Amino acid sequence: MKKFIIISTLFLCHTIGFAQFVQLKYEGKNKKIKFALAEANRILANTAFYESVKNIEKFDFTTFSGDKIANEMKSINKVIKVEGYWNPFSKANAKTQDIVQVNTAKLNRSWKSIINTLVHETVHAVDWHTNNNFDYTHNGQSPDGQDKTAPWVIGQIAEDMVP
Ligand SMILES: [Zn+2]
Repeated sequence: MKKFIIISTLFLCHTIGFAQFVQLKYEGKNKKIKFALAEANRILANTAFYESVKNIEKFDFTTFSGDKIANEMKSINKVIKVEGYWNPFSKANAKTQDIVQVNTAKLNRSWKSIINTLVHETVHAVDWHTNNNFDYTHNGQSPDGQDKTAPWVIGQIAEDMVP
């Protein structure tokens, strides 16, 4: 009987798609990353977040719609690894290819801003893992003139959802 319940629960998770949404994992000791990541994961598991992403028809520098990107984030079925690195001389808050690397020298800012960064980098990681390429990205490390690109827009959607 117990076996039956476990199997049906797994089946249900699979059917509603919840377990497949992209999530982040951090095994380091930085408390700011830990807390921000927990909130980022709550947002990345929230269907309301994907509804907002879906509503964006056009981003700069890509042909991918919000609908397409939301679907990639929802169906990736992957936990993206997050690591910290220390570089006070870099302008970058983070860098990402297959894993997300957060610059721990740039964490003296609001929770909302750090959560924005984590979700922004998640967009890059999903892009990389799904397309083996950066098909929806930006140039440079500042939002100046780049704020209509997918990572910046979607990071901002997440930031606006932080209570
Ligand atoms: Zn970026």
